[in-house]
Amino acid sequence: MKCIFCDKDYYRHSTFFHAFFTKDPLCSDCRSAMAKKYHKIKSEDLLVMTFYDYSDLFKDLLLQYKECYDEALKDVFLYEIKDYLHLRYHDYTFIWVPSSQKDLQRRGFDHMRLMLENSGLKYLDALQKNSDLSQNLRSLKERQIMRQNIAIKEGVCIPKKVVLIDDVLTTGASMSGAYHALASKACKIACVALAYVRE
Ligand SMILES: [Zn+2]
Repeated sequence: MKCIFCDKDYYRHSTFFHAFFTKDPLCSDCRSAMAKKYHKIKSEDLLVMTFYDYSDLFKDLLLQYKECYDEALKDVFLYEIKDYLHLRYHDYTFIWVPSSQKDLQRRGFDHMRLMLENSGLKYLDALQKNSDLSQNLRSLKERQIMRQNIAIKEGVCIPKKVVLIDDVLTTGASMSGAYHALASKACKIACVALAYVRE
């Protein structure tokens, strides 16, 4: 058996416990290189919980999953944290920060949806981006545009307790846009991103 990411022998590159008592699709070496590190980040006007640094390995994993559509990697990202998310947010619904229409069409799948589908967490496909703005909008005005660019999909009813989730937190503009789209509909919104890019 091989590790689904590094393609090396899973057992040779895993501890005994990891190999026989977990169902982790990554070998111990890859899992440790992912370097789980919990942060609470103040981003724009939100407090965002993040679980990994945006390390080279995390970046490579995400690229292979998102851009090469390596579906086998869908469970890797939530593997270590889904039990925690279940416990902490057991009566919340997970809603993800949407990709642009252009990116969704190019990839042919919604990577956040696929990640959540297999996690056992309650989720809802609720948001959309109206137009394809760049992720790297830096100025205040540009970030304000981003804020207004995310909207609730037609006919979707927003639950009262929501966890807003994204893969990577960079400027926080998309997260903030999604938050403000939901703010008038949900009572409680927690913000979570898998990885955090240090500026
Ligand atoms: Zn590996």
